[in-house]
Amino acid sequence: MTDSQSTTALRDKADVVILGAGPAGLVLGNLLQASGVDCVVLERATRAQVQTRSRAGFLAANTVRILDRHGLAEGLRRRGREHATCEFRTEDGRFRLDYGGLGRGERHTVYPQHELVTDLLTRYLDTGGRVRFGTEALTVLDTDGARPTVTVRDADGRTGSWQGRYVAGCDGRHGAARRSLPPGAVRRHHLDHGVSWLGLLAEAPPSLDAVGYAVHHRGFAGHMARTPEATRYYLQYERGAPPDAWSEDRIWDELSLRMRAADYGPLHRGRIVHRAVVDLESDVLEPLRHGALFLVGDAASLLSPSAAKGANLAVLEAEILARALIADLGHGDPEGLARYSARCLEHIWRAQEFSGWMVRLLHGAPGPDGEPGFHDSLRRSRLASLSSSRSSQDWFAEHYVGV
Ligand code: FAD
Repeated sequence: MTDSQSTTALRDKADVVILGAGPAGLVLGNLLQASGVDCVVLERATRAQVQTRSRAGFLAANTVRILDRHGLAEGLRRRGREHATCEFRTEDGRFRLDYGGLGRGERHTVYPQHELVTDLLTRYLDTGGRVRFGTEALTVLDTDGARPTVTVRDADGRTGSWQGRYVAGCDGRHGAARRSLPPGAVRRHHLDHGVSWLGLLAEAPPSLDAVGYAVHHRGFAGHMARTPEATRYYLQYERGAPPDAWSEDRIWDELSLRMRAADYGPLHRGRIVHRAVVDLESDVLEPLRHGALFLVGDAASLLSPSAAKGANLAVLEAEILARALIADLGHGDPEGLARYSARCLEHIWRAQEFSGWMVRLLHGAPGPDGEPGFHDSLRRSRLASLSSSRSSQDWFAEHYVGV
């Protein structure tokens, strides 16, 4: 490991200080680096941790276009697989949507997020980019001033600071950027969908050649291919229950039941290598700028994973911010920075609307007597319309793949 990757300067400077080496921070870092803008990425975790964190996998066509445009898509072009079908299994039978032939005719590329992050990091370091791993941003100070400062602490507990002209908060929902916003500086919109999922990663080949969404009276179950050897599953789960409350056998039995394996074919079982509980929530900060501090990716907005939009929005916002920073720092044109928040929020609200619709497509609430309730009947009606109406299917396809 080189010096630039392993040590923490106690006091340093860069024109743009980027917090977080996820998809948002690394796309931004690569684009700035390629344009000769002086920047640094500060990352709390180690390099090994960021390169192995298993999360997203479905990349929208627009995300692939952005990465292609900047020469960052080589890995996903080589190892990613196109995907364009989903299958719904319900109490009324099953139906498939070949969304690649509907709407705008766009497809997903399935490419695990940690592989994308590895590609982005490798390219950034190979082109001379600066990253400080094991460096936690504590607070962003003086965001209203000409020289905002990020206080940091390294893995040995040493503290220091980084001064920049701009700070890009790409450090997620619980990062320093959000924490540093003064009270009242931005508005937080928040919606708890009242549902939790147990997200699972199984060392098992996909069990069907489609994204599987199963609606069952015992709760939702989902199936998403990751690689020929790994599959992500979701199980609707009791809110507040610890992720390890269920044995592997119980998980596979429940997945099989809810996905109606007896009718449609068995699931390929395998070792469950990762599990985490996700409470389905949405939130949006507005505006996405406070002085010299910009919010990007999950730091800007959090989406329920129902529609796989988070990483895609992160890449889109990073490109918008990179262009604006390059125009400002390179040509003295602040217009893009002034418009950054409004431009991103337009995309974010559209994605929030679709993700919320997906939550309501996949979950209903039984009535007080345990019988199907009003929302459950609405859910059933939504699915019926999706299975039979071409205009509903076109709308679904456009928003499912689009960002
Ligand atoms: P992150 O990827 O969270 O990166 C933030 C980085 O900041 C991290 O490396 C973190 O260590 C670092 N950091 C945090 N705090 C600090 C600090 N104080 N100082 C320094 N560094 C800090 N999205 C999709 O588009 N498609 C999908 O299929 C999909 N599936 C998902 C499945 C699961 C189970 C989950 C949990 C999420 C999924 N998402 C999906 C969402 C997607 O993973 C996120 O939206 C995406 O990671 C956001 O990227 P980001 O760069 O904004 O944040």
